[in-house]
Amino acid sequence: MGKNNKKSSVPHEDHLLLPQHPGRPHPQSAPIVDTHTHLLSTYSFYRSKYKQARYVTVYDFVRELYKDRGVDAIVDVYCEAPEHKTWKEIADSALTEEGRRELWGGLEYWFVMANRGTKRASPAGVHPIEAMSHPRCVGWGEMGLDYHYDNSPREVQQDVFIRQIKHAVRLGKPLTIHTREAEEDSERILKDHVPKDHRIHIHCYTDSPEWAARMLDHFPNLYIGITGVITYSTNLNTSEVIRRMAPSSNLEMPLRILLETDAPFMTPSNIYDSLQNVKGRLPISHSAMIPWTAEFVANVANETATEGGKWDTLRVMRESRENAKKMYGV
Ligand SMILES: [Zn+2]
Repeated sequence: MGKNNKKSSVPHEDHLLLPQHPGRPHPQSAPIVDTHTHLLSTYSFYRSKYKQARYVTVYDFVRELYKDRGVDAIVDVYCEAPEHKTWKEIADSALTEEGRRELWGGLEYWFVMANRGTKRASPAGVHPIEAMSHPRCVGWGEMGLDYHYDNSPREVQQDVFIRQIKHAVRLGKPLTIHTREAEEDSERILKDHVPKDHRIHIHCYTDSPEWAARMLDHFPNLYIGITGVITYSTNLNTSEVIRRMAPSSNLEMPLRILLETDAPFMTPSNIYDSLQNVKGRLPISHSAMIPWTAEFVANVANETATEGGKWDTLRVMRESRENAKKMYGV
């Protein structure tokens, strides 16, 4: 009995097929580019939540959930070097237009990967070099310091981070940065080792607005990554970053953000306004949720917007779409 109750709290998987966002009735008028998603973990999380899953391959999952939702491109992120067979098969499947049409439903699949940067020769340390030269690889990461979780000693984290940066900079690869509660050290390392004009994505931003301002000021090609976490009442920093950016944003100087999901987690909380018949919480987030994050950003930006005019979901999506092009070339 208890078990059944627990099971019924996960909404039916039909609800993962989202309605169109009310502020974006014609999806192709402002296509989605999800600049940071973990596709394989999202898919395996989906499979673990829905034992009778309807989509039996990751390609089915993408094709069906994103069909007619205006999802143009995703940047898939590997935290640790995955099995060679896995990443290569997926990346290769997106090499030709035919492959992208048939397997991906026309979606442009790109990826970002990083190795741990250790000198120790290991199978995991070898193929990232191969991955970096793959035509669908658009950046290096995610990498950075996390003093919130402190999964490894801070000196080790810094050591790995510096080595990864040097590697990426040498090869001219854009950087996908994960940083949490490590402002001072991250700033010092980035400023010491990354050329000013290098492209940098500070993904899933939750740190202080002051830090964001300093980084945006120093690096002209740096972007702040905004996920559904901006909609959470436990996080005030991310909205404050937007409030401070909005007044100086205009046509020549767009809002310097990238929209992302960081799926499978951090479903934007305002999505439930559009899913009023759904009981419980969706177990995963996915790229078609991005318009809800954009809507939230627009509302926050309007609190301080002046000369740049008013914000809405479409404007936020269009400006960050342009930024994705500048950042990753996608
Ligand atoms: Zn991530």
